[in-house]
Amino acid sequence: MNYFPDGVVDVDVVVVGAGQAGLSAAYHLRRGGFEPDRDVVVLDHAPRPGGAWQFRWPSLTYGKVHGMHALPGMELTGADAGRPSAEVIGEYFAHYEERFGLRVHRPVDVSAVRDGEDGRLLVESSEGTYAARALVNATGTWDRPFWPRYPGQETFRGRQLHTAQYPGPEEFAGQRVIVVGGGASGTQHLMEIAEVAAGTTWVTRREPVWREGPFDEEAGRAAVALVEERVRRGLPPRSVVSVTGLPLNDATRRARESGVLDRLPMFDRITPTGVAWDGPESRTLDADVILWATGFRPAVDHLTPLRLREPGGGIRVDGTRAVRDERVHLVGYGPSASTIGANRAGRAAARDIGRLLQRRPGALDGAVSSPPTPAGR
Ligand SMILES: Cc1cc2nc3c(=O)[nH]c(=O)nc-3n(C[C@H](O)[C@H](O)[C@H](O)COP(=O)(O)OP(=O)(O)OC[C@H]3O[C@@H](n4cnc5c(N)ncnc54)[C@H](O)[C@@H]3O)c2cc1C
Repeated sequence: MNYFPDGVVDVDVVVVGAGQAGLSAAYHLRRGGFEPDRDVVVLDHAPRPGGAWQFRWPSLTYGKVHGMHALPGMELTGADAGRPSAEVIGEYFAHYEERFGLRVHRPVDVSAVRDGEDGRLLVESSEGTYAARALVNATGTWDRPFWPRYPGQETFRGRQLHTAQYPGPEEFAGQRVIVVGGGASGTQHLMEIAEVAAGTTWVTRREPVWREGPFDEEAGRAAVALVEERVRRGLPPRSVVSVTGLPLNDATRRARESGVLDRLPMFDRITPTGVAWDGPESRTLDADVILWATGFRPAVDHLTPLRLREPGGGIRVDGTRAVRDERVHLVGYGPSASTIGANRAGRAAARDIGRLLQRRPGALDGAVSSPPTPAGR
């Protein structure tokens, strides 16, 4: 890496985010000849390895995680299915980073990415500014929980929380809990909380769609194609469950039989003591807790200065490359927002960036050699 006189560090590639997608990109970039801390810098604002997994609730054990694909080049073997996935995957990622010498800088927050001079992208971070020729954005969705707004929400006297703050079921012992949202997280919360709560109620905007049988490769491809189509049209990506449906397995079958997964349509308003449905069949329901399992949005606000968004609100990508800026790749975004998709996207981004940078080699005038962290720490 080189320093410019103003302390900005010159580097070929910055990877923002060290979850599955960022680590896959870093691994493939390294294989393509980009040396960590010389040609590529990986930044992550979380305190520990593990991407968003480190923040998932303790009762989400490794055994409850379905279809977690290993990172490229190193299997995850012998994990205890009863341990929290946050621990198992956190340790696995830590080992992975070390084994491949990926040298993730953390906790380092990226606040903005802007257009710089000479075709550079200026990546502004809490450890200083990097001037990069290319960017891999791998920031996932965990940092942007989505809370829908309903009339009266601020008047509710009970507790409101989002999946991103879910602590596990124990805190809801003896309480009346409303879970909002038709995704996998919502059903998992309900099944756990129902064991200890005084009562649970499930409300969703749309009638849930249950999926019989295994989610095989063909079904996976079909689901990815649907999300891809939206992203190609410049629309914000939909949640995975909107295209895959909810899995019917022994646990969900039992919960449906016992009534835990009986669903009500969305309420119209929130009252100080609960929720209310208006209209001909108007009714109210008292509750102590409203748990919003209403999903997440891509955490891409720091890319705003680059004006990548389409009028539809999404960022159009061709493969992983942003259509509006060929230096920017989005991995783990839209169709690649799964562990297998993130792996593939990391490889594709590394390959494209390798090609792009071969077309534009050479260091900038005025740069001087220096150690690998920018000024302004
Ligand atoms: C509850 C839950 C269960 C899931 N279960 C499965 C499953 O069983 N199988 C499956 O395939 N997928 C599952 N998924 C989806 C899966 O987790 C993701 O698709 C994949 O792991 C995400 O990887 P990622 O690298 O894109 O994002 P993340 O793991 O979210 O990593 C993003 C990283 O970017 C960092 N970051 C974000 N913003 C910034 C910034 N501005 N500056 C610096 N760093 C930043 C974060 O700290 C984080 O470490 C699940 C998702 C959820 C929410």
